[in-house]
Amino acid sequence: MPEGQFAKGIVAGRLTPEQYADNFSDLHQPFSEHEARVEADRCYFCYDAPCMTACPTSIDIPMFIRQIATGNPLGSAKTIFDQNILGGMCARVCPTETLCEEVCVREVAEGKPVQIGRLQRYSTDVAIAQGVQFYERAEPTGKKIAVIGAGPAGLACAHRLAVKGHEVTIYDAREKAGGLNEYGIAAYKTTDNFAQAEVDYVTAIGGIAIENGKALGRDVSLSDLASRYDAVFLGLGLGGVNALRSQGEEAASNAVDYIAGLRQASDLSAIPVGRRVVVIGGGMTAIDVAVQAKLLGAEDVTICYRRGKDQMNASLFEQDLAAATGVTIRHWLAPRRVLADGDNVSGIELEYTRLDGDTLVMTGETMTLEADQVFKAIGQTFAAGALNGSGAQIELEGGRIKVDAEGRTSLDKVWAGGDCVAGGEDLTVSAVAMGRDAAESMHRALMGGQNG
Ligand SMILES: Cc1cc2nc3c(=O)[nH]c(=O)nc-3n(C[C@H](O)[C@H](O)[C@H](O)COP(=O)(O)OP(=O)(O)OC[C@H]3O[C@@H](n4cnc5c(N)ncnc54)[C@H](O)[C@@H]3O)c2cc1C
Ligand code: SF4
Repeated sequence: MPEGQFAKGIVAGRLTPEQYADNFSDLHQPFSEHEARVEADRCYFCYDAPCMTACPTSIDIPMFIRQIATGNPLGSAKTIFDQNILGGMCARVCPTETLCEEVCVREVAEGKPVQIGRLQRYSTDVAIAQGVQFYERAEPTGKKIAVIGAGPAGLACAHRLAVKGHEVTIYDAREKAGGLNEYGIAAYKTTDNFAQAEVDYVTAIGGIAIENGKALGRDVSLSDLASRYDAVFLGLGLGGVNALRSQGEEAASNAVDYIAGLRQASDLSAIPVGRRVVVIGGGMTAIDVAVQAKLLGAEDVTICYRRGKDQMNASLFEQDLAAATGVTIRHWLAPRRVLADGDNVSGIELEYTRLDGDTLVMTGETMTLEADQVFKAIGQTFAAGALNGSGAQIELEGGRIKVDAEGRTSLDKVWAGGDCVAGGEDLTVSAVAMGRDAAESMHRALMGGQNG
């Protein structure tokens, strides 16, 4: 379809400039200093802090909260960055309601947890706004390391390696660094170009060069990198999407691509959206595309998920957020056929499902929802072609890269972490933890016990 022309019913500029600005403002307003200190005072500073155990990066949460309570936000930021150099983004995007805040003793006792995420944002924002760098690089080791992918896993890995005195080159296929922080996370979770501000903050340590527009498997090969560098880290994320396997699928839009377009738009009024939108899926991406379609001015947005509410990957908080935005979530419905004439969608035919024991079965009963835009948000897959097309075979498990407890792959000198590895949780904070831990493992391997 020619640029500027959209399929029937899909229109750009449904709202006024004020409505766009209001709809896409910060989901959680940042704390003022006074608010942060009042909230920090609610913490019991538990000696066995369950919140800390629940954090994939093991941030010393009672310590950083105590530092806020005593008026030391920079000390607090350092406590966070020691474990998680992307603590600013994680403060914005972590599903805290299923991690640290879920197990906070004040949640368990009163149903009102300490707002750990907002407190973390408060102190990390202070440090980033002031440009305070807490780490000095160790003496140069002379080791050179290639990191593929400038997402949370790659950035966390590169930073830890740079701190230890290694020279890092990050190769990323996209024009900008940040991975899904820049191209995926919902716009209202990361406003004011925070993703790029954080990339600048992380790389300000020095010793990290980023080469954008360089794709593994196209511009560089794994075997070449492994021979030119002392070690390689793969933080490739998930480049593919699952297929709906339904008739008319070509007329459905890919939710991840749509969100990336939205995140890169300088003018939200240029983003086209349907009047009636149906989203197929049950995870964070389904919620994000549905909520953002509603905020762009769609009248009627329905998420259809093939299982029940309790099986949705999206947290209850995310589901409530969608409902509060006006999105309808319907369960036990699987797509059968996207009704379309070329690119022009008119609806979707769905089939009711039910559980037979543990098995999901189709009931044969169908229904149709009218729609002029259908999104598929049914999960992403690892695009292994970049690896095997680049001359080096690497062992996969369940379609993703197989790693040991330290992040080592089956190939000598090659580590991996983040969404592209098997057994991950597909969360920003988990990717950061894996990148950081792989860097520690690489350092140990490269230094052979020297330099700690
Ligand atoms: C729409 C959406 C919303 C999400 N929302 C949240 C949220 O609110 N909270 C949360 O915790 N998690 C969220 N997630 C998950 C989170 O974004 C990921 O778990 C996290 O970004 C994984 O980090 P990563 O570094 O492994 O991969 P990515 O962030 O995907 O980064 C991978 C990088 O590798 C690059 N790359 C890929 N292939 C190549 C190649 N061949 N050569 C060179 N470079 C390459 C990519 O360009 C990219 O920069 C969301 C995911 C999606 C899709
Ligand atoms: S569990 Fe809650 S109260 Fe206890 S240390 Fe963590 S944040 Fe504070």
